Amino acid sequence: MEYDYDVIIAGGGMSGMLTAAAIAHYSNQRARILVVDRNQPAEPGKKTNNGWTCGDAVSKGSIEYLAKNIGIRYGKPELEHNVKGVLVYSPDHETRVLFEGEGYILNRKILPQRQVQDAMKVGVEFAYNVSADSLIAEDGWIRGVTGRNLTNNSIFKKTAKVVIDAGGSATKLRRYIPISTKIEKEINKDDLESTGRYIYTFEPAADDKTWFDSDYAIIHLDQYLAPGGYCWTFPKGQSKVNIGLGVQKSALDARNQKYNKKDTLQDLIDQYVKANKVIKNPVQSQDENDRGNTKGSWQVPVRRHNDCLVANGYAIVGDAAWMPRPIDAGGIGPSIYASVILGRVVAKALEANDTSESGLWSYNVEYMRFYGYPMASFEVLRMYLQTLSNEQINYGMKYFLSEDDVAHITRRQHPEFNKLRAFNPLMWFRVLSEPQLARGLRYTAQKSESLITHNMNYPERPEAWLEWKKGLMKHLEEAYERFQIRGRSSQYAELSARAS
Ligand SMILES: Cc1cc2nc3c(=O)[nH]c(=O)nc-3n(C[C@H](O)[C@H](O)[C@H](O)COP(=O)(O)OP(=O)(O)OC[C@H]3O[C@@H](n4cnc5c(N)ncnc54)[C@H](O)[C@@H]3O)c2cc1C
Repeated sequence: MEYDYDVIIAGGGMSGMLTAAAIAHYSNQRARILVVDRNQPAEPGKKTNNGWTCGDAVSKGSIEYLAKNIGIRYGKPELEHNVKGVLVYSPDHETRVLFEGEGYILNRKILPQRQVQDAMKVGVEFAYNVSADSLIAEDGWIRGVTGRNLTNNSIFKKTAKVVIDAGGSATKLRRYIPISTKIEKEINKDDLESTGRYIYTFEPAADDKTWFDSDYAIIHLDQYLAPGGYCWTFPKGQSKVNIGLGVQKSALDARNQKYNKKDTLQDLIDQYVKANKVIKNPVQSQDENDRGNTKGSWQVPVRRHNDCLVANGYAIVGDAAWMPRPIDAGGIGPSIYASVILGRVVAKALEANDTSESGLWSYNVEYMRFYGYPMASFEVLRMYLQTLSNEQINYGMKYFLSEDDVAHITRRQHPEFNKLRAFNPLMWFRVLSEPQLARGLRYTAQKSESLITHNMNYPERPEAWLEWKKGLMKHLEEAYERFQIRGRSSQYAELSARAS
C-alpha cells in the first residue's frame, strides 16, 4: 500500500511535538512525519479555547533527559523560572515536606513555538487548523486519519504506516478506535481531575513562605478547598504566580453535600487565592507571553497509564494515554520520557518495516520498565489518600511519613511507611490513636510492592499480555474492595473468562 506519510501524529501538544522530534532524530530524518493539530499556526500547543492551561512545573531531570537523548536543550524564555524543589504542606501548614529536586516553571505558551521550530528543522511537516476526528481502519490495522479542515470545512484524509494519538485527555481517536485492540478506550470519571489556575502578578503583602516562596513550588493539601486533589502556588518570579487547584468531581459533590455548599471549581480557586496571605491585589498577567493564557481550567487523567499503548499501525502517548502521575497529576515529565521512547521504537519499526502491534510492542515494555512501573501503585495510594480527612492527613504527615518515604516518592517509588513498623511505645501509641490510618498506609505499601513487581514483569510479547493484565486487575480489584471504591467494573472476572 502507498502511504501519504510514514507517521501521522494527531495532536501537536507537548507529547505530539516531542514524539515528532524524537522519530526524526532516531530515523536520521528519513521518516516522513506529519503533525495534525486543530490550532492555528500562531497558537501551537494550545489545549483548549482558554489557553495552554497547566501548572507549568517540570523537573530538571526530565528536561535533561530530553537534551541527553535527542539533543533538544531549552532555555529562556520557555524555561521561565527556576525552582529548588516542591514543598508539600499539610492542611494545617504544620508539616512541610520537600519532594523533588530542582525544576522549572515553564512558559507553556512560548515553549510550543520553540518546539515547532525544532521539529521543522528536522523536516517534520504540520497541518494546522485540522481537527483529527477518526481513524481509518482496514483489515484490523489503523491506516490513517480523517477529519475536517477548520478553515473551509473541507474533508481531511491522510494515510500513514503509523498513527500516533497525542490528542490529549479528550481525544476521540482512542475512544472510538475501530479495530480490536488491547488498548482500553474509556477512563473512569473518578480517575479524571478537574483542574484550573490563574497566572497572576501581585503585590507581596507578607513574608510568609508557607504561602508563597519564589524559590519553591508549593503544594497545599486541603480536602476542604481541593477535595480529592490539591492546591498549588508555583512561583513565576518574585511577584508572579501560577496558582490553582484540582478536585475529584465526586469528592467535590460529597464535600458540598457535607457542608451544604454549591461551590464550583472556579469558586474554590478564587477562595484559595483569597486565603493566600502573601498574594494581594492579584491581576491576570499583562505580559505578552501570557496573553490569552491567564485563566483556564481543564481535566487531567490521574490513573495508571493505559495498560497497552499500541495496536497495529497505532500508538498513544501523553494525556491521550493517561500518563500523568496519579499522585500529583504531573504529565509533562511522563510525556517527555514516553515521547523519546516511542520515537526510538517507531523509528526502529519503520526500519524493520513492521509497524504491527508486535513491531511496536517494545514501547509498552520500555516505558513500563523505565518510568511507568510505579504508577499502578500510585493509583492505589491516590485512591486511599482521597478517602482521608484533613485531620488524618495532618496526623499522617506529622507522625507516619519518614524521610525515607519522601526519598522514595521523589525517586518515583512508593513510600514504605517503615515508621509504622517501629516497635517503640510512642509509635504504638500513635498507631493506636489512628489505627485505621496506620492500617491503610501499611496496606498501600504492601500492595505497592506486589504491583511494582508485577509491572516490572510486563510481558515481552503481546501473546502473554492477557495473563499479565488479569494479574494486574486482580491486585487492583482487591485494593478497590479494601478501600470500598465503587463503580469499577470487574475486569478481572471478564479477563479470566476470556483467558480460559
Ligand atoms: C490545570 C492543569 C495543571 C497541570 N499542571 C501540571 C504541572 O504543573 N506539571 C506537569 O507536569 N503537568 C501538569 N499538567 C498536565 C500536563 O499539562 C499534561 O500532562 C500535558 O500537557 C500533556 O501533553 P499532551 O501533549 O499529551 O496533551 P495536550 O497538552 O493536551 O495537547 C494536545 C494537543 O492536541 C490537540 N488536539 C486535541 N484534539 C485534537 C483533534 N481532535 N484534532 C487535532 N488536534 C487536537 C490540542 O489542540 C493540543 O495541541 C496539568 C494539567 C492541567 C490541566
